[in-house]
Amino acid sequence: MTAIIDEVTAWHNRTNGTTAVEALRKNGFDAVYFDSRAEAVDYMLGFVSSGMTVGFGGSMTLVELNMADLVKQKGAQLALELTPADYEDFDALGRTLKKTVQTDLYFTSSNAVTLDGALVNIDGGGNRVTAMMYGPEKVIVAAGINKICRDEAAAWERIRMIAAPKNARRLNMPTPCAETGICVNCKHPARICRLYTVMRCKPFFTDVTVVIIGETLGF
Ligand code: SF4
Repeated sequence: MTAIIDEVTAWHNRTNGTTAVEALRKNGFDAVYFDSRAEAVDYMLGFVSSGMTVGFGGSMTLVELNMADLVKQKGAQLALELTPADYEDFDALGRTLKKTVQTDLYFTSSNAVTLDGALVNIDGGGNRVTAMMYGPEKVIVAAGINKICRDEAAAWERIRMIAAPKNARRLNMPTPCAETGICVNCKHPARICRLYTVMRCKPFFTDVTVVIIGETLGF
């Protein structure tokens, strides 16, 4: 029974993943699908070279892939390595994060990727979505198959039901969703959802590669 579940799941992941990749390409993005995280990591490390500066958007996908350590092992320099103490002074954190927007290479994930080839995201500080759109020489967006949504409406629903509440909980935010598990469109001062972006086509001035991976990764 497990074999048929694995086979059907692999088929479903590949079918929807490659549909999203084809749509992303039609929208001007470079895009590629891999069945496994190991293949995807090998591919992404091909963009890393010794001495270059690399920035990271906050991403549990990239943590699961251990990308920061692997990038350092290739001799690249991380633009920033945050510790829990860095979050204690929010204004200083904001100034520090600006360093990551001007790098040779930037890795991030996307809160959702639609089957018609759009990247849908919510951000709080704007460092992540700004870097995705404008700043670094090269941007690589890694997304597990769990990020694929039928359309933008489904993408926003995914973000309100899953991505934002889980990130609020991860960050120990005192927002309602960190307790209830769903978005209530709060007015809390610590609200993490402040910027809502949809990249329907590749930006003019930023080279973006989207890597879709046929495994569940991140939120
Ligand atoms: S708007 Fe508020 S309640 Fe909704 S996900 Fe964002 S922080 Fe949570």
